[in-house]
Amino acid sequence: MRICEKVKHQIVEERRKWHGDEFGGYLIVKNDCVQEIVFDVEYSNGGYVEFGVKALLKLPKNKQKFVRGWFHAHPITGLSQTDVMTTMKLTNFWGRCYTVSCRVTENYCS
Ligand SMILES: [Zn+2]
Repeated sequence: MRICEKVKHQIVEERRKWHGDEFGGYLIVKNDCVQEIVFDVEYSNGGYVEFGVKALLKLPKNKQKFVRGWFHAHPITGLSQTDVMTTMKLTNFWGRCYTVSCRVTENYCS
């Protein structure tokens, strides 16, 4: 999986708004590459984020059908047990799920 430079840049920019709180969004994936990110946060605090669907539903249908993953920035390195459970649920839902995370304090995503 690759992450488009534009998406990495968007994540860095978005992080400025959150001041260390968790945030995240949905990933539009084509050809094994994350091409776009749609930030969509319903609720967030320092250690927890809940996604919304408003931005997701505003996407045109030809983009919605390529939403196959999620990104979130959280306080830890790697994935928490909750993150793994979320990934499993989304894998069941989409048939495949790309999970990208980074620390709220770092630029690096994996
Ligand atoms: Zn997490």
